[in-house]
Amino acid sequence: SRRYFIAGNWKMNKTSSEAAALAQGVVEAVGNVSNVDIAICPTFTSLETVEKIIEGSNVKLGAQNMHFEKSGAFTGEISAAMLRELHCAYVILGHSERRQYFKECDCLINKKVKAAVASSLKPILCVGETLEEREANKTIEVVSTQTKGGLDGLTAEEALKVVIAYEPVWAIGTGKTATPAMAQEVHAEIRKVLAGMFGENVAEKIQILYGGSMKPENADELLAQKDIDGGLIGGAALKADSFAALVNSAV
Ligand code: 13P
Repeated sequence: SRRYFIAGNWKMNKTSSEAAALAQGVVEAVGNVSNVDIAICPTFTSLETVEKIIEGSNVKLGAQNMHFEKSGAFTGEISAAMLRELHCAYVILGHSERRQYFKECDCLINKKVKAAVASSLKPILCVGETLEEREANKTIEVVSTQTKGGLDGLTAEEALKVVIAYEPVWAIGTGKTATPAMAQEVHAEIRKVLAGMFGENVAEKIQILYGGSMKPENADELLAQKDIDGGLIGGAALKADSFAALVNSAV
């Protein structure tokens, strides 16, 4: 059966010194939980500092984005090898903020997913509908297209190295959470898409996280859903105590 996974997406928050303090707090507050996968994803500029603090703990490191090329004239970009050398285990790809503000499309995100997998970085592929799309009854269509587009061309073996995060855009940073039933419905559909692409056995093994205003107060009922395997946490990951409480909800 699948392990729970609680990941913190710090977004564009915390300077290196602030990130160091938060990482230290997370390691202490989380303690020695061993049956939950845990990761924190600071900004690029804090990765090296945070890595030194979490080294040897049960907290893994993730980045928030990546370029798909190996190296070259791509000013301002960061490669998979650069992230691997800083001991990143995960990389968030296709976050709705990247899609919305930086015009990332499924075909670009697919290149990044492939490059990450090829470099032994586990992608956390984000999918999710906008409020407008939900109101037009397009949620399942949008999420299916994004899942298929993001994972296009992967082998079943490669798909086992991917984590999916369902993040309804209208729930991100708004305090509005999808109800457990709403989230479960979409998670089950995503797992169906995965089964269609890679087979039932593989689909049953892939972790599907929920993201969007998840906090200690609503985590238990979300995590109780059959197809919700953890959370990708924004705001509540910026405080060590609430992040640790979320980890404890998954124990
Ligand atoms: P919030 O938890 O702040 O809603 O953010 C969710 C998110 O986007 C995580 O990637």
